[in-house]
Amino acid sequence: MILPPDHRNFKIRDKLALARNLFEKTADHIKSNELISNLLSDVIKREQVSRKLMRALGVNELCRECDQEEGGSCCGAGIENRYDAILLFSNLLAHVHLPESRFNGKSCYFLGPTGCVLKIRHTLCVNFLCHKIEDELSIEELVRLQTVLGEEIDSTFLLYEAVKKFIKNYG
Ligand code: SF4
Ligand code: SF4
Repeated sequence: MILPPDHRNFKIRDKLALARNLFEKTADHIKSNELISNLLSDVIKREQVSRKLMRALGVNELCRECDQEEGGSCCGAGIENRYDAILLFSNLLAHVHLPESRFNGKSCYFLGPTGCVLKIRHTLCVNFLCHKIEDELSIEELVRLQTVLGEEIDSTFLLYEAVKKFIKNYG
């Protein structure tokens, strides 16, 4: 199954429709693919580790301050355009409920009332540590956090490539 060559330029709603269509057609087959199942479990596990560490280091509280007291988080409208149908499809495989509409007009399409709804995230989202976080955390904490985030990024890359190859060769 070949994705349209310009699919990365689609609007987010069209990318979501494409991802849902892929899911309908291939989910049963891809779920029995052992490599992809293992990679998917690995990314989900690493994403949970990242979120847990961020909570433990107080990063969630810093983000909450931005969101509720300082005029909004940095998850701004337009960042969703970095996501393509393959990453969105991977989130469907991870049982993420992708929103039907934007929760807040000024924010990223995937920012829900309690934070990002995605489990399989773009490198840009995983990797971003703002100045406020860099100022608050010690060097040791930053290194620990960057190590964990780096593992999530590496794992996501492997999953993305495996899913892309599966879709390309499907049907
Ligand atoms: S990453 Fe930084 S700028 Fe963005 S919401 Fe969190 S604390 Fe605020
Ligand atoms: S972390 Fe989630 S909500 Fe924030 S910009 Fe990235 S995709 Fe959007």
